[in-house]
Amino acid sequence: MKFRFAWLPLLCAVVAQPVQAVVLNGRDYTPLAGWAAANQFHEAPDGSRERCTLTNRAAQRLTFEKNSVTAEIGGVKVALSFPVALDKSGVFFIARFDLAKTVEPLIFAPPVSVKKISTICLDPGHGGKDPGKQVGGHDEKAYTLLLADELRRQLIAAGFTVVQTRTKDKFVELSERSAVANRHNADLFVCLHFNATEAAKNEVAGPQTYCITPVGASSTEAAGRGAGHSLCAGNRVEMKSLQLAYQVHRALVKNLGASDRSVRRARFEVLCETTMPAVYIEGGYLTNPTEARKIYDANYRKQMAAAIVKGIVNYQKLTAPPLPKIKRAETNPPAATNHPK
Ligand SMILES: [Zn+2]
Repeated sequence: MKFRFAWLPLLCAVVAQPVQAVVLNGRDYTPLAGWAAANQFHEAPDGSRERCTLTNRAAQRLTFEKNSVTAEIGGVKVALSFPVALDKSGVFFIARFDLAKTVEPLIFAPPVSVKKISTICLDPGHGGKDPGKQVGGHDEKAYTLLLADELRRQLIAAGFTVVQTRTKDKFVELSERSAVANRHNADLFVCLHFNATEAAKNEVAGPQTYCITPVGASSTEAAGRGAGHSLCAGNRVEMKSLQLAYQVHRALVKNLGASDRSVRRARFEVLCETTMPAVYIEGGYLTNPTEARKIYDANYRKQMAAAIVKGIVNYQKLTAPPLPKIKRAETNPPAATNHPK
């Protein structure tokens, strides 16, 4: 294990000595203070001893909470793979894995992609003999298709080409869904679902957006294939999928004023088998009476589609190739002239 020392002792920790990296549950953890100091972040005290909020000169804001696997990054909740730890002397520790796989890709400039986003594959969940969630006579499969149709119209209007895994009430195998995206060489894959829960259904609402689980970690709520699963096709573009999920989720939460159910990780088959950046959106809860009424409303779905388009456009801006360098103006002093003063 590599040891690193943190030299900013008063950051999120009331200690006067350097703090070492530690191993917790077999995982390398590093003091948040040391990471913050090395990356020009400073503490923004918020009055809680169980929370550590960091900010920088660009006003980026990160919040971590004791024992929590959810961080807040730029006002959006994002699932970590391992819980944040707080020791007895008040020092916060974060898994190096989470810094590398989740935090840093979202706050530092992503690797530049030279490929322009042109074709987007939409995947309305369920269909045909598979109704998806069924709540009060409403089938999820109908609303995923209605949302996909609206989203297709808006994406085409924004200049994208769209392919869909289904355009009618038809059963499509999971393997065929990712195959459609791969065959068309789509640049992005967007899978659409709605959610349901029996527990606390009046309280639980809001979108949650999944992207592929990094190799070596368990999925959030152990969704999809298990923790031991090795590299799948989706992992080859996992950073981009995370950035896409973040941008889409951010736009959904902000534009809809919805509860933030966080960016999450899953090894759903469609996320594993697609070869391009891919997201799986659970657009809201059919079991929450207030949210369900909105989902059944075409105007709300229009807003939801507009948010997804905005997220995609913001992601595209992040990954846009840099503008060609403009030739600098001549720096030699101008020749003397005889113009009258
Ligand atoms: Zn579904």
